[in-house]
Amino acid sequence: MITTLKSISLILFLAVFLPCKSQNTVVKSAKEITTIVDDTTFVNLKDYSSDFVHDMKYATEDNFLKAKVYDCAECYLRLKTVKALILANQKFIKKGYRIKLFDCYRPLDIQKKMWQIVPNPEYVANPAKGSIHNRGGAVDITLVDSNGKELDMGTKFDFFGPEASHYYAGVTEEVKENRKLLKKIMLKKNFISFDSEWWHYNLKSALTDKVANEKWKCE
Ligand SMILES: [Zn+2]
Repeated sequence: MITTLKSISLILFLAVFLPCKSQNTVVKSAKEITTIVDDTTFVNLKDYSSDFVHDMKYATEDNFLKAKVYDCAECYLRLKTVKALILANQKFIKKGYRIKLFDCYRPLDIQKKMWQIVPNPEYVANPAKGSIHNRGGAVDITLVDSNGKELDMGTKFDFFGPEASHYYAGVTEEVKENRKLLKKIMLKKNFISFDSEWWHYNLKSALTDKVANEKWKCE
């Protein structure tokens, strides 16, 4: 009797649940289709992942410009940059770290504002040319440990001097290891490093994207 009931239950389960399941799958796919956005669309990283630490320096005065140039702190990037960054962060998380963000996409008007404050191509990209930040394919990042403490990278973010270079030999072994860890995984996830700034990474496929001036809304 118990066996029979079990069999009936199983049949009912198969009859009711399975078609339902497959229907759900179809519905989900349809939903996915309606929400597909182009890889070059600008999106807010927070809408795709909450696994990052945000410390958007240019939305504060705690930066080399000593000026707040963003109205609010958001990390916007092209979708393809977000996807690659999330894959890199997942790798870091497996190792007990996560990415801390200092800067992401930078609208061209903000680049002009920065250039007005510091019109020196050694420190700020000339807006006439634009940078990969203006193209939505660059991030300025470091790594934090499980307590949220930044790993020692030898210099602060936006330190302008040879010490910030990947090739500077005068840093400690620990710093070398930390920079190497950051670089190794970022390169694996299709970013390229920038010799003179350990914190700066460009998505390889973003180099030919257009400079943009789309702005995000501040609540
Ligand atoms: Zn940068």
